[in-house]
Amino acid sequence: MIYELIIFDVFLVIALLVLVLILVKKSRKNRYSQEVKDLEKRLNDAIEENKEDLDKSEDIKYVGSPKNRKYHLSDCRFVELLKEKEIGTLEEFKKKKYSPCGTCLKK
Ligand SMILES: [Zn+2]
Repeated sequence: MIYELIIFDVFLVIALLVLVLILVKKSRKNRYSQEVKDLEKRLNDAIEENKEDLDKSEDIKYVGSPKNRKYHLSDCRFVELLKEKEIGTLEEFKKKKYSPCGTCLKK
């Protein structure tokens, strides 16, 4: 009878240990998934930020010269020498078949 009780106790202790192990594993999993979520959020934020920059780059204004049909970045040293200037986007100047300045828009 006492022997059976000891076996029962041992079984109980083992069951408790297993339970604790399962709980520990579960909480670790939760912590990791929270970390993954945080990382995911940061990644999304970074992507969103870059997307905004990308959108801005489409809005960059270029300065065109109707005389020689070239377009420049607004801070190009030739821009201040231009007597006639047009402001527009890259797309607009490409449509007009303007060519990029060899100095400021050199590839
Ligand atoms: Zn230029």
